Amino acid sequence: MVTGDDRRPALNLASRPGQRSETVRRANLSAILRELHLRGPLSRSELVALTGLTRSGIRAVLSDLVTLDLAREERAASQGAPGRPSPVVRPNSAGATVLALEIAVDSLAVGVIGLGGEVANSVRVDRPRGRFSLEETVDDLVELTRVVRARAKSRGPMIGAAVAVAGIVRRSDGVVRRAPNLGWRDVPLGARLTVALKTGLPVAVANDGDLGALAELRRGAAVGSNHVLFIAGEVGVGGGLIVDGRPFTGLAGYAGEVGHIPVNPAGSVCRCGSVGCWETEVGESALLTRAGRLPDGGRAEVDAVLRDAAAGSPAAMNALNNVGRWLGVGLAGLVNVLNPELVVLGGQFGRIYPHVSTTLRAELDRMALEASREFVRVVPATLGVDAPLLGAAELAFEPLLADPAARAPSRAASTTAASA
Ligand SMILES: [Zn+2]
Repeated sequence: MVTGDDRRPALNLASRPGQRSETVRRANLSAILRELHLRGPLSRSELVALTGLTRSGIRAVLSDLVTLDLAREERAASQGAPGRPSPVVRPNSAGATVLALEIAVDSLAVGVIGLGGEVANSVRVDRPRGRFSLEETVDDLVELTRVVRARAKSRGPMIGAAVAVAGIVRRSDGVVRRAPNLGWRDVPLGARLTVALKTGLPVAVANDGDLGALAELRRGAAVGSNHVLFIAGEVGVGGGLIVDGRPFTGLAGYAGEVGHIPVNPAGSVCRCGSVGCWETEVGESALLTRAGRLPDGGRAEVDAVLRDAAAGSPAAMNALNNVGRWLGVGLAGLVNVLNPELVVLGGQFGRIYPHVSTTLRAELDRMALEASREFVRVVPATLGVDAPLLGAAELAFEPLLADPAARAPSRAASTTAASA
């Protein structure tokens, strides 16, 4: 499974006369569609500057993208500048949509998302602890998908589907190898969803931390950064890595399991079977327990802790301080190993960030190596709780972005062919 290459340059036909023209054409279609998908509307002049293609090269590529129903060109309003205004090109969000799904411990989410990242419709529902069987989860996702697709009815053809899950995923066949907080082991999630959703599309499966990182890289706090560590906290703690501008998933897709880094040998038993994993100190249950609340209380209880802290409750402030301290301890180790330029805190960590940032930074200053510490910035995620869902959409779009010409001809194109 290709997971994204955000910096693949356009191939310039003029500079590579020996290259087979069909290969060049497809690469250029991919490069320009990717720019439109990630950046939104662009003028032809901007596309020339971004891709290095000639104006006539751009014109040919855009003509193909319009025929494929993936882009629209509009005459730009004159800004009073001399000369003809450059036409504006938009990704056609209704020309290709994907189905994105997310399985978190406390909630399920489904979205229909159009080319360019426009969310046509989405829904997230909290779910009770314990409703974790594969059958129940798949049934619930099928029902949510029915609702969301009905609401987004006027949208165009669906070209991909992907699910983010709070577990360790083998990317090659969509099997969840282990999801400690769902109680899953070797669950064929991709195959089951592919059959149950009846879209005729294979459902790609990836870890929620990996997809949260991908979404923040493409559309959130990490746009423009090349070395990123995304850490998301809910019940469990997940992570995703961007190395040299690309997602780093390891050999089989298992990289980034930062929640199970051992940090406290004197700590609690983790759901993975080990002791003192990072998530036993910074996960939702740890925060709620220390704040004197029900450990399985979910997002509503976390919100209550934040309200208490804002009102000056010592128990709530101590609980948050403690999480901030352990966040700093774990991050110091990760920063030393990975030397990232940016750490993005997502999920619950994004919400508690204002309350923990000072403690976290102090701990990072104290424990990380100075050389790595001086480069790294720590910021809250900007996509909020939906980052993994939006990342699933990006994963589902990837085959189209990698080779737009491989899609079936659009109605417009087949009409042209029939009348020729
Ligand atoms: Zn663990």
